[in-house]
Order: sequence, then C-alpha cells, then structure tokens
Amino acid sequence: MSDGIQRFIFDDTDVRGECVVLEHSYGQVLARHPYPEPVALLLGELLAAAALLVGTLKFEGLLVLQVRSSGAVPLLMVECSSEREIRGIARYEAEQVQPGASLHELLPEGVLAITVEPRDGQRYQGLVALEGEHLADCLTAYFATSEQLPTRFWLQADGQRACGMLLQQLPAQRISDPEQREVRWQHLTLLGDTLTKKELLALPPEILLHRLYHEEPVRLLEPYAVHFHCSCSRERSARALSSLGREDAERLLEEQGGTVTIDCQFCNQRYCFDAADVAQLFSGGGVQQPSLARH
Ligand SMILES: [Zn+2]
Repeated sequence: MSDGIQRFIFDDTDVRGECVVLEHSYGQVLARHPYPEPVALLLGELLAAAALLVGTLKFEGLLVLQVRSSGAVPLLMVECSSEREIRGIARYEAEQVQPGASLHELLPEGVLAITVEPRDGQRYQGLVALEGEHLADCLTAYFATSEQLPTRFWLQADGQRACGMLLQQLPAQRISDPEQREVRWQHLTLLGDTLTKKELLALPPEILLHRLYHEEPVRLLEPYAVHFHCSCSRERSARALSSLGREDAERLLEEQGGTVTIDCQFCNQRYCFDAADVAQLFSGGGVQQPSLARH
C-alpha cells in the first residue's frame, strides 16, 4: 500500500488495531528541511503516531502533536487532520545533535502535548512527560495514565519510511470476564512486541498481521490514504499580519524594505505583502488579491 492507515479487528475479542505506512508524505516533510538523521527519525515516528491517533478519534478537525524539550531538539510538531492530511516540522541545534543520540539526549525534560481541535466544539489537550526510552512508550504511558482505552504503540522510522502499529482495548462486548479480557490483551500485545524494527518498516500490513496473528481471527479493513498537505495560505498569513495591529505591521513593512514576507515554517512557502496590501488589509479590504504580480 502507498501512504495509508489500515485498521484491523479481532473477531473473538474486544481489541482493534491499526497499521500506518508513510513514505511519500514522510519524504515530503524531509524534502523541505535537511534534518540530521536522529531528528528525521524522531519526526518520522511522530508523523506515524499522529496518523495512528487520528484513526482512533471520532472527530472532524485537527490533531496536533507537539514535543518541547530543553535540549538539542526544542520543538517537534506534527499536525494531522481528520481527512488525514499531515505535515510536520522540527527545530534543532545542529551542533548539539549527535549521531545515534537517544530520545533523552535529544529531548531532555521533554513533554508531549496532544491537542485535538475539533472544527465544531471544545479543543482539548493532554500532556505527558517523555519518560520512556522511545516515543511509542511515552504514548502508551499517556493512554495508561489518562483514563483512556488501554492502547499500545509501536513506531519506527528510518529516513525513508515511517511506520507504526497500535492495539487498542475496546469496552467489553465479546468477552465480559475481566480476567479473560486481560489474558487476551496480554497475549496480543506480547505478540506485537516480537515485531522487529525491520519487519515494521518493511512489511505491508497484511503480511505483518499474518506474521504476528496468523493464529488469531483477525480481519484487515480497507485502507485510508494519508497525504502531505500544508494548510498555510495567503489569507492565514494576512490574518497573522493583521493581528499585529496597523502600527506594528507598518513598522515591519518599513524594516523589511517595503515588503513583509511571511515564510511558512512547514512547507517554506513565502507570502509577500507590500504597502498596498497592508493598507488594504487594515482598511477591511481583505487579502483575496495576491500581490505576487507586483514583485
Ligand atoms: Zn505551508
């Protein structure tokens, strides 16, 4: 499969799962910034995590994963919409990023913020300290401590592909005995733990599931495509500019030699606003007319 998320369900127990494979979209993210390898790998894992998480949520809107730390990588950020349009970015101190650095070396005092922004309705956010050895452990810990459905994550990236799997325990329906439920959950997650990095990165979901669960009544559902897409626009940039207020926007215009340029951090798209644009913006004329012709 090309970039996509594929769900699977077990017919005899209350557990569901998802596999994600990102290759093109991961490549699109990496093509826009020359990240050092450890940062590119972390970003890949975070992209895979976001795609998996979106699949577990019933909502329309945006999921944002943001990692902040006091170290070499102060910010990692991935956004994935309910339409599975994904983008991501990392900030890093190049001289501090050592090859093969661990999660803790790259992200000391790291905190992951998981924010769900529904198009209609209340935005909510959960926070988890990055205390595991891998990003997947941190996400698993988050689900364990936040009264959500027990969920296990497996995430891998190698600079070419970013892949992941999750298992989630659903409310009792097929098995009501709590002990038996737990036995089944342990069994399925232990099998998941036998997955090697190479297998997760290389195997298509159907082969991967066969490799892990060929003795289980597991069914793979139709895949959903995932695409790289940047949601920046001239209008959004103009809104940011107008939020500065007229005086500051005009000062910026002067400082930048007559044209305010706003670069999208995610995709490097540049939006330019000249004096006429700024005047129009603050006279309520909107920003619909691109001024590119004038530059
Ligand atoms: Zn953009």
